[in-house]
Amino acid sequence: MPDRTKTAIVTGSTSGIGLAIAQGFARSGMNVVLNGFGDAAAIEKIRADLEKETGARVFYDGANLMKADEAGALVTRTEAALGSVDVLVNNAGIQHVSPIEDFPLEKWDQILALNLSAAFWTIRAAMAGMKARRYGRIINTASAHALVASPFKSAYVAAKHGILGLTKTVALEGAQFNVRCNAISPGYVLTPLVENQIPDTMKARNMTREQVINDVLLAAQPTKEFVKPEDIAAFCLFLVSDAANQINGASLSIDGGWTAQ
Ligand code: NAD
Repeated sequence: MPDRTKTAIVTGSTSGIGLAIAQGFARSGMNVVLNGFGDAAAIEKIRADLEKETGARVFYDGANLMKADEAGALVTRTEAALGSVDVLVNNAGIQHVSPIEDFPLEKWDQILALNLSAAFWTIRAAMAGMKARRYGRIINTASAHALVASPFKSAYVAAKHGILGLTKTVALEGAQFNVRCNAISPGYVLTPLVENQIPDTMKARNMTREQVINDVLLAAQPTKEFVKPEDIAAFCLFLVSDAANQINGASLSIDGGWTAQ
């Protein structure tokens, strides 16, 4: 049954995994706040199409989540506009691939800010309301790189390992207030984030595009298939359902068996 009383923020939902999660939530009836960057007209089309298709209220907020004040404001603006933040998916993320000795200092700071600190900032802002209403479902998009490393991804791997610690802490703080916090850890999904790192990986490893896809990306994934954004969206819908009430503080892999090795 559509639950039009619930509002979900999905950060980084103008593209890739976040967009699929936001679409899944809106199709289930939740009101959804989209967030992320991109062409304004293209984002407005995504927003308007999803609203028309689902009948849910679909808002867009362009907060830059590399900034603490904007991350907090995303939550307070949503509470003001839609009444509450019941579901929060911290999904916005970026990547940079480089040997550590050449890793640009500003890329380290940006990746730590967006892939780790932004989740702290939004949760910090949302937690009081969730506790007061005795309902909250927080999902942090981690990665297989929250559990294992690959070379040349120092900032990303550090941030994603860090988000598991944040997830566990928030899970404990919310446990008796019906606030749940979990991390999902996908393997490779062929989104712009992965597309964009193929040229850098070709350079770093002196490989062709096909070699990067088959020998680097899918080499780690025993299924030899990319994970589909829709699979992740379906999993998130389960995690916000009542059936998942006792799943809390978990890192849940969706990686075709990558981290089983
Ligand atoms: P994507 O590049 O398709 O989407 C990233 C989203 O983040 C976009 O909407 C973008 O506009 C937004 N964004 C970028 N900078 C932002 C900022 N400063 N403030 C707000 N939003 C910003 O990437 P994706 O593959 O869909 O990745 C989504 C999440 O999934 C990331 O956290 C990523 O680390 C994680 N992940 C991806 C994969 C994969 O293989 N694609 C695997 C595991 C985990």
